[in-house]
Amino acid sequence: MTPAGPPSTTPPPARAVLLNPGPVNVDPRVREVLGYPDVCHREAEVSALLDAVRDKATRICGGDDQYTCVALTGSGTSALEAALTSAVPPGGRVLVLDNGHYGQRLAQIVDVYGIPCQRLRFDWTTPIDLAALDRALAADPGISHVAMVHHETSTGMLNPVRAAGEIVARHGRDLVVDAISSVGAEDLDVVRDRVGWCVGTANKALEGLPGVSFVVARRDAFEALAELRPRSFSLDLHRQYLAQHHDRAPAFTPAVQILYAFDRALDLALAEGVAARRARYASLAQQLRVGLADRGFTFLLSEKHRSNSITTVGLLPGLRYDELHDRLKRAGFVIYAGQGELATRYFRLANMGQLSSADITSFLQNLSASALNPNITESNS
Ligand SMILES: *Cc1c(COP(=O)(O)O)cnc(C)c1O
Repeated sequence: MTPAGPPSTTPPPARAVLLNPGPVNVDPRVREVLGYPDVCHREAEVSALLDAVRDKATRICGGDDQYTCVALTGSGTSALEAALTSAVPPGGRVLVLDNGHYGQRLAQIVDVYGIPCQRLRFDWTTPIDLAALDRALAADPGISHVAMVHHETSTGMLNPVRAAGEIVARHGRDLVVDAISSVGAEDLDVVRDRVGWCVGTANKALEGLPGVSFVVARRDAFEALAELRPRSFSLDLHRQYLAQHHDRAPAFTPAVQILYAFDRALDLALAEGVAARRARYASLAQQLRVGLADRGFTFLLSEKHRSNSITTVGLLPGLRYDELHDRLKRAGFVIYAGQGELATRYFRLANMGQLSSADITSFLQNLSASALNPNITESNS
């Protein structure tokens, strides 16, 4: 064996507590899977792996026997792009419910493909107006699809998928849901909520590693895509569905090792249960929010709109985000910037992944040192 030279990149620091909304701190049993022997993606064991991941991802979304899943290699945005560009027929039109950065992104994606789109826009701190959705659909039979974000990660607002699903179904239209930061830890059920296309990813509340994402829908909806001309080659859900469901083989080379890790993460998620994970996240979020409020921090959203995994927090006067970030990073905590126009006034804290109550306690202590009395951290570091 030729000796490897000195590494040209340095590894990340020893366990940082990740308070960004994915990639998250994972269970050691998920990471351990990366040490499996090398494998060919066209072998029987990978067919079985793909079957297992698709089945478990379907179940975590509440899908029954009529539902199935297509797993994709790529981040959550690839799966969103696959769902939106595959599901909307020629002559279809998308109504996007937009109250944040990721709502905006749904419109940007369809726009790139020239798919007609209109937006129902709300301020980033405003919940989606369901009566406005109802009126928009009643007024315009040309809208074939409604697209919305379940958990708007730019603010931490939880949007009402269940109520929207009821309205969309009543009007006989199809619903595409970006559940990328909610699936696994918020209440979501594709059957009950009448979600036509549910998009998720491995590395947020499902606590897997980044690189694979998925779309859950009814089997007959995937089958019906055969009638449509694809807009994309590799993100064509029908092509991917035929390969995975009928041939039990990936259409292209998938991130096999990450799929193994996702399979393990899904086992852990199913064993814990979505309701229990939701309660675990809610308790960490509560601890964090109480501690922040005690220290004089304010929040972007009122309590009733907040999810269980993102808190958007006001920056204190006189301390810029990058300074706060760097001080906390030196202490072993990674925080996340506010998005878009919020960036100069707010930062975000996610509590997804394998975090403990002790991590939050320690974060709050370090936050006091970094934000409220900067000299203490400076002299300690
Ligand atoms: C993270 C996120 C995305 C983008 O996912 P990537 O994996 O970064 O492509 C899209 N929508 C929501 C709601 C998200 O939280």
